[in-house]
Amino acid sequence: MKEQNAVSPEYDVIVVGGGPAGALTAYYLAASGMKVLILEKERLPRYKACGGGITPRALEALPFDISPVVTQAVSKALMLYNNHPVFSHSQKTPLFTMVMRDDFDHFLVEQAVGLGARLQEATRFESVCGPAGKLRVTTTQGVFKAKLLVGADGVNSRVAKALGLGVSTRYMTALEGEVYPGTNLDLERFSKALHYDFGVIPKGYGWVFPKGDHLSVGVGTFAKKATGINRAFERYLCLKGLSHARKISPLKGHLIPALPRKSSQVSCDRGLVVGDAAGYGDPLTGEGLYYAFSGAKMAADTLVEAMDTDPSHPMAAFDVKLKKAFFRELTAAHAMAWVLYSLPGLSRRLLGAQGRNLGKSQLEVVAGRLSYTKLFARLLLRMMNPVRVLSVLFR
Ligand SMILES: Cc1cc2nc3c(=O)[nH]c(=O)nc-3n(C[C@H](O)[C@H](O)[C@H](O)COP(=O)(O)OP(=O)(O)OC[C@H]3O[C@@H](n4cnc5c(N)ncnc54)[C@H](O)[C@@H]3O)c2cc1C
Repeated sequence: MKEQNAVSPEYDVIVVGGGPAGALTAYYLAASGMKVLILEKERLPRYKACGGGITPRALEALPFDISPVVTQAVSKALMLYNNHPVFSHSQKTPLFTMVMRDDFDHFLVEQAVGLGARLQEATRFESVCGPAGKLRVTTTQGVFKAKLLVGADGVNSRVAKALGLGVSTRYMTALEGEVYPGTNLDLERFSKALHYDFGVIPKGYGWVFPKGDHLSVGVGTFAKKATGINRAFERYLCLKGLSHARKISPLKGHLIPALPRKSSQVSCDRGLVVGDAAGYGDPLTGEGLYYAFSGAKMAADTLVEAMDTDPSHPMAAFDVKLKKAFFRELTAAHAMAWVLYSLPGLSRRLLGAQGRNLGKSQLEVVAGRLSYTKLFARLLLRMMNPVRVLSVLFR
């Protein structure tokens, strides 16, 4: 063990992971006067495969202005089936706020550090031992002591395993590249709108998001086996006329959590997990940032309450809060995702007949003006109209 281990200070909370969930949890904890340490295995800024599309509801959930790291605001969205538009919407005000995750995550961490949190980069969490209030956290850079532990270390969270949590969720497998088109014309073609393309990969969709000097292009699938995702990505590039890209760098595969199972457990007396580590994400769109931002606030509030009473206080309250806020919502979204992604024939007809309504409603959801449960009820009601059902089935 290194010398620093013997003198390592005691923290109220150690947060593992300097992504959005970890940075924001640390930010709120530091704002409440807690002594916080962020452990991050990489050096920041680090690349993260992500569309970097921040929805209005996610932007609203952020506690500070992020304009220094916004690459552009986009006010148009296109939904397509096999590259044929089924819905298009544009408005005067921004619809989505685009960021590059290396700069964005670094900026969030800097806000936490500005409030007194300490950042320890290039330090990988390995294990934890000891009871709540007296945790010893072992890392590649030595041992750190804390009262409580937060795992914001993304999908396949090592902290969740170390805390013995039963995080169980469904996943989308995604492959994304930062694409530098061959011509300015290609860049210009995609510079003003987000493209969501259905019918380009089984049980999933493709996307092109503008990022100033380049495009974030990806495909994602809910299929259990994502073999063939590389070929689907190549085909998608061709379909969008981007196969002559000057550079695609990097091209990375990653999992996106969707609906957690009901039995999933994200907290215990020694700590909790948040963000992708907790397995909450949108099963229709793969949006994860909203859940990371809102989960961070709930996590910090739970930890502060626990610390105010007794650091060995069980934190089951966090499980209750997360489930109350999101579980029914995501279950409704999952039911719609199942129809969209598992029944290709029906989803093609649905998008043809109802694409406009569905697209509009989805934008209402991500703007925070409509819930998935209400949307689901609305769709069921519509399906009770036999004329509508026939128009979809025989389209
Ligand atoms: C291809 C793709 C596109 C996406 N596009 C969007 C989008 O457009 N909009 C949207 O809302 N969501 C999107 N998502 C989802 C979004 O990226 C995630 O929900 C979000 O990153 C979750 O943040 P997080 O902080 O929980 O985890 P992460 O961002 O994964 O951060 C985890 C951090 O923990 C660190 N870490 C991991 N293990 C350890 C360890 N043992 N010790 C120390 N540090 C560790 C990692 O280095 C990382 O910095 C996308 C995801 C993918 C894969």
